[in-house]
Amino acid sequence: MTVVTRFAPSPTGSLHVGNVRTALHNWLWARKHGGRFLLRIDDTDLERSREEYVDGIRADLSWLGLDVDGEERQSARFDLYEREFDRLKAAGRVYACYETPEELDIRRKVLLSRGLPPVYERKPADAAVPEGVAPHWRFKLDHDSPIAWTDMVRGDQNFEPKTMSDPVIRRADGSWLYLLPSVIDDIDMGITHVVRGEDHVSNTAAQIQMFDALGAKPPQFAHEALLVGTEGKLSKRLGSLGMANLRDEGIEPIALVALLARLGTSDPVEPVTSVAPLIASIDFARFGRAPARFDEAELALLNQKILHHTYYAAVAPRLPAAITEARWNAIRPNLMTVAEAAEWSAVFDGPFTPPAPEEADRPVIEAAAAAVSGLEWDAGAWPALTGAVKDATGAKGRALFLPLRRALTGRDHGPDMAELLPLIVKDQAIARLSAT
Ligand code: GLU
Repeated sequence: MTVVTRFAPSPTGSLHVGNVRTALHNWLWARKHGGRFLLRIDDTDLERSREEYVDGIRADLSWLGLDVDGEERQSARFDLYEREFDRLKAAGRVYACYETPEELDIRRKVLLSRGLPPVYERKPADAAVPEGVAPHWRFKLDHDSPIAWTDMVRGDQNFEPKTMSDPVIRRADGSWLYLLPSVIDDIDMGITHVVRGEDHVSNTAAQIQMFDALGAKPPQFAHEALLVGTEGKLSKRLGSLGMANLRDEGIEPIALVALLARLGTSDPVEPVTSVAPLIASIDFARFGRAPARFDEAELALLNQKILHHTYYAAVAPRLPAAITEARWNAIRPNLMTVAEAAEWSAVFDGPFTPPAPEEADRPVIEAAAAAVSGLEWDAGAWPALTGAVKDATGAKGRALFLPLRRALTGRDHGPDMAELLPLIVKDQAIARLSAT
């Protein structure tokens, strides 16, 4: 069996970390099994779907490195839905309904006030059909077939169809609701595993009967616990958790992927620089049932850790020319984002005006200025410089190193000076130490 998964967003908005997580898990599962990962654009709602969101979804998946093996659009498949709908109608599995939303609402309230579950009541077959009213359509659940499946995350699931309302699958204007087209597509595209949020569990119960009614075996299901933000619901902050914003903040795609792959699972989140270990480890049995908590601070920290061992070749196209491989290797342990590397260009090559040293530090700087010109500009430069200053002034430890670091880099903290110094243009170093 070739594994086939799909990510099925509705193009009515931009992707955020919640739906990216679902996409990622589908992708990882397909890659782990040498299968196929499809992008299915669920654009049956022609009013709310927008081409710019479709483009955005493609761009975001590509930025994340989630390559797709095929793309399908529901809006191009209406003929197929129509045919399958007719088939179900002929088999008595869909039927016309004429209630208005107000009537349904009143009925629901009556049932609830009697302490009964608000399940839709089918009309008798000979009920009067109102004239001039276009019907909407429901799928007729088979009350005699209990619904059961073994969910890859949630284990055994059981639903009693008698306690469920026959779901509306098509509106009076002929437009489709999500449930039936999704099943038709999953069958037609040979989807073997459906990975989605647990908010779809009750949809799955109804859809399992639709697979059955259409003569197909349902795929395997994995319903993952929802993602929540540090302060509860994610939906409140979706704008800031969109891909464009995370990219602007300097988050590397691999950092987001590394976090979302493992969050809420019993595998630890690790600062990986490739997806290989994430593909190898994905296992829905290791996914927890409790909501997974997404924390931007955790993402920023992971991003930083990943940069610390990211190879030059992986970032070179995004670095200013001044940041050579040796320079990248020296500064990467101190970066939060790749963009920050640019701030080091001036430290290496100038222009750079050192801060005026504190009075007490002047002897150290002066001794350094006297020694620097004569040094070999290689890995021994820093020990030689500090050795000479120490001999001349007696300064040691912090009193020796900090003034030199400040004069040479303008900062109190930063990369190892022994690695950094020979990467600074020598004339620049001389000028900085002599500037006082
Ligand atoms: N378009 C549906 C959604 O975004 C797809 C759900 C599914 O994966 O079946 O919720």
